[in-house]
Amino acid sequence: MRLYDERNKTPDMTCGYCHESGHRRNHCPTLKAHYEQDQRGEPVDPSLLTQLTKYWGVQSSQVQNWYERYGKADAERYFGEKTAKAKPKKRKKAKCGFCGKTSHNRRNCKAMKQFKYLYEQANLAYRKEFYDRIIVGMGYGSGALVSMRLYEGQDTSPIALVSDLDPMSIGLGNLIGGYWSEYATTLRTSVLWEGLKRKFPRHTRLFHFQDTQSPSLREDDIITETFFAGSNPDYWSQGWIQSIVSPAPQTMSEDWFNGQSEPIDYVMKKRTAKELWMTFRSQITTFYPHSNKERKINAFKRSVGLPV
Ligand SMILES: [Zn+2]
Ligand SMILES: [Zn+2]
Repeated sequence: MRLYDERNKTPDMTCGYCHESGHRRNHCPTLKAHYEQDQRGEPVDPSLLTQLTKYWGVQSSQVQNWYERYGKADAERYFGEKTAKAKPKKRKKAKCGFCGKTSHNRRNCKAMKQFKYLYEQANLAYRKEFYDRIIVGMGYGSGALVSMRLYEGQDTSPIALVSDLDPMSIGLGNLIGGYWSEYATTLRTSVLWEGLKRKFPRHTRLFHFQDTQSPSLREDDIITETFFAGSNPDYWSQGWIQSIVSPAPQTMSEDWFNGQSEPIDYVMKKRTAKELWMTFRSQITTFYPHSNKERKINAFKRSVGLPV
């Protein structure tokens, strides 16, 4: 019975770490357990934070952040010294932040090199496809005239002028949907229309996957997915380019597209292999251009411990 179980708890005493009543954080069994787990190099166990995971779900990354931000420093003061006195301090085993293995760190991580190769090859292929289909095939680029459409059933189709396109912004990140995704890359291009410069908004993508089985890129999808333009440059009502009325007078040089775009190195330093693979799996599988695709992907997966 809870009433009985909690008999020794002092009422109105709530722990700032676990939000259970009956103790303060300096006597918090959960904080102590998390501290010990962290000292062993393990992720903290979310299921111990019953109160908070009611809101978060048992999502370990959030609980890990919670521990690191609001628990770790205190835990070191409360439990650190005693632990050190009780037993000789064990050296925390170094762990690769990218693939999770203990034999090395990010600096010499094989999985990181493997992912980088997969990503960069697929990214380059995407950029080439963009060049072939959008720049050469459709004539998109600065100076092209495009017919805009702002809503379904619109009577007239206003004409706008493409004012710029930054080839650096073209890459696999264009295909990551979702306004909030930290992996999405906004295509940097804009049109002049009714005297205003309108930028390509953040939460849309140029190519459109039909489904994962046949990620065919249909020309009409590309056109209808190309633009969302607003009547006010600060507010994006939905709209898009209906067609290219007259192509750009000068085709951009292919050299712009043969180089890499955004470097993936920074992202790989901040995130894990599994997370990146989950994010870019379908893009890499779709665009990786070489015949050794399966072998390369499987080698990477093995390095990370993902099922092959
Ligand atoms: Zn507590
Ligand atoms: Zn590694």
